Parts: sequence; C-alpha cells; structure tokens
Amino acid sequence: MSEKIWLSSPHMGESEFKYVKEAFDTNWIAPLGPHVNGFEKDLASYLGDGVHVAALSAGTAALHLSLILLGVQAGDEVICQSMTFSASANPIAYQGAAPVFVDSEAQTWNMSPRYLEAAILDRIEETGKKPKAIIVVHLYGMPAQMDRIMEIANRYEIPVVEDAAEALGSSYKGQKLGTFGAMSILSFNGNKIITTSGGGALVSHNEEWISKARFLATQARDPAPHYQHSEIGYNYRMSNVCAAIGRGQMEVLQARVEKRRRNYEFYKKALAAFPAIRFIEEPNADYFSNRWLSTVLVESDSEGGLSREAIRLGLEKEYIESRPLWKPMHLQPVFKNTLFYGDGTSEMLFNKGLCLPSGSNLTGEELERIVKHVQQIAHAATR
Ligand SMILES: *Cc1c(COP(=O)(O)O)cnc(C)c1O
Repeated sequence: MSEKIWLSSPHMGESEFKYVKEAFDTNWIAPLGPHVNGFEKDLASYLGDGVHVAALSAGTAALHLSLILLGVQAGDEVICQSMTFSASANPIAYQGAAPVFVDSEAQTWNMSPRYLEAAILDRIEETGKKPKAIIVVHLYGMPAQMDRIMEIANRYEIPVVEDAAEALGSSYKGQKLGTFGAMSILSFNGNKIITTSGGGALVSHNEEWISKARFLATQARDPAPHYQHSEIGYNYRMSNVCAAIGRGQMEVLQARVEKRRRNYEFYKKALAAFPAIRFIEEPNADYFSNRWLSTVLVESDSEGGLSREAIRLGLEKEYIESRPLWKPMHLQPVFKNTLFYGDGTSEMLFNKGLCLPSGSNLTGEELERIVKHVQQIAHAATR
C-alpha cells in the first residue's frame, strides 16, 4: 500500500529542535521569552521596509487585533475579499461589525479592484459612511493587484489590512507581501509555508500599533504591581516554545519557497498536454508567488469524464489528498444575506479549482505518483 500524500504538511529543518531544547533548558516555557523576541526580529528583518512585528497565537488573533486597533466596532462595515478562508472574515463578526464581500478578478484570483471601488461607492451612498477597513488576501501566495488596490484605498482614505497568511515569501514589485497594508497578518499554522505548530503575527510600519497589540495580547495589563486593567484584553501572545520552532523555520524559509515553486513548475510541465487543466500564472514580472499551493482550474468535458471532482476523487482513491479552492464567503451558510459586490468570478473559480499536493517535503517519486494518476484520469476522459 502506498503512503498517504498530504496537501501540505509540516517540514522541519535542522535547527528547530535546537531552539526548542534551548527553551526547555532555560525553562522559558511561557507565552513570552527570548525566542518570541528573536522570532519577531527575524520576521521584521526578513520582511524589511522598516516594519515591526508582534508574534501571536494565531493569524486569526492577529486579524482580530488589527480590527480592534483600527477601531472597528458594532455598526461599522468592513470590506473583505469573498474568496478566502473563513478566518479572514470571522474577526469582523467578533467585533459586531458587518462584512461586505468583494469578488475576485480572474488574473490573480484576489480582490477585484473594480468591485472594491463599486462597493465603497455604494456603501457611502447607502449609509453615508465609509467602510472602516479593507481586508485583502493573497490567496495561495499570489499577490493581489496591490498598486490598484492601494490607490483606491488611499483615495478614499480607508486602511488596508493585508491577509498574508498564505504569502510569506511572496513579493510584489520587489516588495515583500505583508508590508503594504496599514497592518498585515501572517499565519504559522501547520499547513502554511513555515509553521510554529500554531501561531501568527501582526506586522505594521506603525510601532505604536505593534506595542499596543502586544499589550492587548497579554490581557491588557496596566503597569502596576497588582493586576490592574483599564481595557479589555486578550490571551493572544505566542508561546516561547512555538517561537523556537519559528526561529528554526526562518532559516529554511527561502529553501521552502524555492521547493514549492519547483513543485508548481513540475506540475505545469507534466500536465501541459491537457488544455482542460489550466494553471494560474504570475501575470507579469511584478508578481512573485511563494506558490504555497499549486492550484489548477479544470474545465469539465461534456460527457462529465473530466472535472475537478473527477480528479479529486480519483486521487483520493490513491491516498492522495487534494482539495477544492476556498469556497467564497458570500456562498457560506454562516454569511447568507451578507452584502456582496461582484460578477461571479470567485464562484466560477470555486467550481473549477483544485489545490494539488504542494508540501515542500514532497519527494520526486511522490510527485511522479501524483501526476501519473492525474494523467490517467485526464486520458480516460479524453479517450
Ligand atoms: C491560515 C489562514 C488564516 C488564519 O491563520 P491561523 O493562524 O490559522 O489563525 C487567515 N487567512 C488565511 C487566508 C489563511 O489561509
């Protein structure tokens, strides 16, 4: 029996255990400590551009704090890319605010600048009030059209929160993703390009916001010998043990990006003979994707032999995990009756899209095994 191939599994390097052992040896087993500070410095110097970083318990926690820092509250509206993981949108609801979902464009699969502007104009006309923030996501590592999105956001003076949970290592016009927004978030969950087992970070050029995030993330404790609080706090700080893993992972981030990009190139070449299986390209040299996941769109044939589901189910039989693209938020039961601006692009992507196994620890043999089965399914359908 063949070993199961996962979509994207953790991939440790040489140093993670050394840092974790150091945490144990010094008994820094707490949601603070030298590795937390060290990991924040590693991230800030990797991202560059003078950003500051707060290491947190999850990417979702980072998004929640970003909205709190931007003053999002009940009665506010927040624009969010519809096609994304639910964690991008849930923090809007945590604050009692209303999400306004915006469709994707076909080039990057990320927020459509056109519908972003349409949504802003329509919300101002209807409510007399600007949306409080714009959450833009770089899905699967592909940069969104940041020039156009930032131009619109700046013109209407609405802060951008960049959800770069999937995009550490990607860049746009040579600038790292995670440094464009008023605030940006990263995730180090188990399936991301690097992992701390669970964790996230808030990134900003504004040092005050980052200090405030660290304060809120540690129960908003006032400087006093006893426990005193003037604000509602959260328990959102990253543990020193998790940060130890993160420090080791930062040493191999570059190698992980290169390997994931090679996975994509391998698939593209191996499946080039099947025009019904289309790959998403970097639109031009401005876009550099970490290729967190290799994704394809599958055109169904009229006989129903070839389709996204035919490939997914065929791979499942062979113990190979693949997955449909994110189901857009405006189609989720939990967000029914929520405002949506778009033309159906994200729904089309969801219907046709598939994520192929993309781990940086995939061997050449495993990749061969995956494409062999995809080729068989596609051949059988086109016969
Ligand atoms: C993983 C992910 C998050 C959430 O990160 P967690 O660390 O799991 O809380 C947010 N947004 C996107 C797009 C993600 O893929």
